[in-house]
Amino acid sequence: METKTSPVKYIFVTGGVSSSLGKGIISASLAKLLQARGYSATIQKLDPYINVDPGTLNPYEHGECFVTNDGAETDLDLGHYERFLNVPTSQSNNVTTGRIYQTVINKEREGAYLGKTVQVIPHITDEIKRRIKLLGETGQFEVVITEIGGTVGDIESLPFIEAVRQMIWEMGSNCAVIHLTLLPYLTVTGELKTKPTQHSVKTLLEYGVQPDILVCRSEKPVNAEIRRKLALFCNVNVNAVIESIDASTIYDVPLLMLKEQLDKVVLAKLKLPLRQEPDMEGWKNFLGKLKNPTSEVKIGLIGKYIELKDAYKSIAEALIHAGVSNETKVNVEWIHSEKLDDKNVQEKLGTLHGILVAPGFGDRGIEGKINAIKFAREQKIPFLGICLGMQCAVIEFSRNVLGLENAHSTEMAPETKYPVIDIMDEQKNITKKGGTMRLGEYPCNISKNTKAAAIYGKSRISERHRHRYEFNNKFLKKFEDAGMLASGVNPNGSLVEIIEYKNHPWFIGVQFHPEYKSTVENPHPLFVKFVKAALDYSR
Ligand code: GLN
Repeated sequence: METKTSPVKYIFVTGGVSSSLGKGIISASLAKLLQARGYSATIQKLDPYINVDPGTLNPYEHGECFVTNDGAETDLDLGHYERFLNVPTSQSNNVTTGRIYQTVINKEREGAYLGKTVQVIPHITDEIKRRIKLLGETGQFEVVITEIGGTVGDIESLPFIEAVRQMIWEMGSNCAVIHLTLLPYLTVTGELKTKPTQHSVKTLLEYGVQPDILVCRSEKPVNAEIRRKLALFCNVNVNAVIESIDASTIYDVPLLMLKEQLDKVVLAKLKLPLRQEPDMEGWKNFLGKLKNPTSEVKIGLIGKYIELKDAYKSIAEALIHAGVSNETKVNVEWIHSEKLDDKNVQEKLGTLHGILVAPGFGDRGIEGKINAIKFAREQKIPFLGICLGMQCAVIEFSRNVLGLENAHSTEMAPETKYPVIDIMDEQKNITKKGGTMRLGEYPCNISKNTKAAAIYGKSRISERHRHRYEFNNKFLKKFEDAGMLASGVNPNGSLVEIIEYKNHPWFIGVQFHPEYKSTVENPHPLFVKFVKAALDYSR
């Protein structure tokens, strides 16, 4: 690292005009370009809500909960960061207002403020700044990009913006602010409008923050005149008005930003050298294959949150990565588990080339998942069950192959006669809900001569988890005698991590979440081979 002794640079990404403009993708794309120029960069998300983390949030509220190696339950944007950068994130990469206040209040209770009145400024803002700088202080990164959740003008994100103002005041040219905004297009007059952006920048200025760069989301090209107008009214250089036009895939965005020279403008502002031309060969190769598939498969994703596709973000992306590896377009059919019964499975699932049963919690939609698995097993359709999906496969096998009537998980049926899935010992006395599951990365040993061994090509893997229940080993012998093997178990052998069915071309359930580890550079082998199996099946 060339700049070991030079200070870490901080880039802040704020949002204006509307939510859901894609701050996460812009942040990840910028980080990708900086990485491609030889800089080490990381991205952090600050979320203005009061939940300590999104682990307790219903997916309908906030989409998927992403899990890091070190067991943080985080915003799904961290998934994008990892998929783009191929560098793991950690606990420090996602901080909420709840977490900030919790730290400050705990310190107050310890007497750490020595009788002072504890206030938003300086105590809350100091804690925010400390969390931002923590990543810089690891010594691992030259650039830290901090994405501020919410939209400028929201009451709840004010302390974050104030912390940004203070950091700029302290660090000057070691900081840059990117404001991501929207230029709405009026069909009647046929023009892009700049006024909402002007107002949003004014709001930011009221808080004492002058953005350096405007990234403008737009459905039409942003012409030179509009750029000049925005520059003049918003007090930025013309070349710092960046167009971010709607793209057909998020994976286009880094190259669109490269074309707009976002990386160059940012580096100039931070007084950093350009180093090399960005090496985006691998990325372009990926995109080329993504856009020119040679075959297609149809995979059913069975879940209970499918009205909100963000609830299964990492799974959907992992399927895209795996499709690219197989030069195959993966068409995902989103199927509501509540709407599946034993009578309509043929009609709803009959044309699929692969069936994936999603993770989840609670009873809703369980029987539909079990019906889908029975169909996949009997029809020999490639099947991948993830976490609850694997647990449902265990239940299905118990009921329909082993004849254990009404076998169930004690999560849904505490009194079941056959508790084939049961709460883990370490979870039995836990009553609090937040951050208490078995979370994060754990090792798993794979047995020789199994499908899992062939898929991974190694005998020791490490995958990320998020669960309270597990396979009940009391039933293991019955399962293995009937051909359902525990092909992956944790190192002390107490916890089944992978099951596979011998009498089926491709039937695998995993207690962990392989989707969290799939990236553009490293598509996950389980997804790659699942799509391959679907492709074989389709032929
Ligand atoms: N509800 C199940 C458990 O807690 C599965 C969790 C999941 O699918 N992530 O074990």
